[in-house]
Order: sequence, then C-alpha cells, then structure tokens
Amino acid sequence: MIFIGTMNLARTRERGDFYCPSCRSLQSYRLRAKRPWLTLYLIPVVPIGSVELVIQCDRCRSNWDTSVLKVDAESHQQLLEDQANHEIFRAVILFMLDDGYMMPEEIEPLRELATKVFDRKIDREQLGQLCSSAEQTGVSVKNYVESVFKHWSVDQQRLAIQVMFLAASLRGELGKARTALLMEMRERAGISPNEFEALVEDALQWQGC
Ligand SMILES: [Zn+2]
Repeated sequence: MIFIGTMNLARTRERGDFYCPSCRSLQSYRLRAKRPWLTLYLIPVVPIGSVELVIQCDRCRSNWDTSVLKVDAESHQQLLEDQANHEIFRAVILFMLDDGYMMPEEIEPLRELATKVFDRKIDREQLGQLCSSAEQTGVSVKNYVESVFKHWSVDQQRLAIQVMFLAASLRGELGKARTALLMEMRERAGISPNEFEALVEDALQWQGC
C-alpha cells in the first residue's frame, strides 16, 4: 500500500518588527511562507498549492495577513489607549455611583484621579458629562468591568485597580461589594496579594496620603 498524504510546510522568509494588534505593542515577527506539499510515506515530494504568506508574532504566536505591516502603530496605539482610558474612568465613575450617589466633596478628588488616567486636567463640566453618560447606561460596574477588562493592557489593568481603589477609599471604607470587585480584578489581572499591596501603596503616594 502506498502511503500518500499532504503536509503544510512553512519556512521563515524574513524577520522584522511590527505592531502586533493582539499584544498591542511592537513585537518581532516572522514572515512565514506556507505551502501544501504532497507526501509519500510522510516525505514531502511535490508542492501542490500556491505559497501563502503569513506574518506571525514571535510573542503571542498569532497569525496575521501581511497587510498588518501597514498598520500605523502609533495611531493605532494612541486610539486604543484613549479608548481604554475612557473605559477606565467610566469604570471608576460607575464604581462610585454603584450605591446611587456622588457626594459634592468627591468631585475635586475625582478630577485629580481623572488627571492621572487621562494625563490631562478635566473641568467640572466634563466630569459632570462623564458621570451622567455613565449613569444613563444603567450598566452595573461589575458588568462593565467584566466586558472591558480583558481589552486593557497589563499596565491599564493595574492603573484601573489603583484608581478604583483610591476612588473607593474617598469614602473612608471600601465596603464589601467594592472590595469583592477589586479582588476579582486583581485575580483576573494575575496580580498576587503582595503585588496588590505594592500597587495600593504606590497609588496612595500619588496623593501624598
Ligand atoms: Zn503578538
């Protein structure tokens, strides 16, 4: 009996750096040329299809069409960052609003936290708009975080935990629900209890507490 089969052979043609949309950062890649071959007793003998070019990220191993090389890393990165920062701050607002109110004395500290997230000052009016648009959605903070957390980079996840911790501590004590949510976020981000403590200590120093 003759043993005939097919096999995909891949060869690295080129290496370089690209902006990986999965890793959300610059990574090295291999340009892989893949081609199906006919095999005889498991030995490739003739190519039977055309060559397909694929970009593979060295870090996350995800495969991309070669057009990924044309993605403008900087603008893509900036857009994602802006979006994540808005999500982080929305999570902070929902976190504060989860018992239905915001106290007037919380406004200034929240503006300071916004500066930390957006890297620029926002005025009271902007803060008011962010609050009312977050409130209107009617989405609970838990569900909101559930839907956006995994899109955030490691740094953004950490920043979110720090800012949410500070926001919650404005009220003196964290409370059960808020503590539970922070612990859930900690676990999801793969942060150890020790690292969490360090993050919180670091955050407390922003405000000179
Ligand atoms: Zn990657």
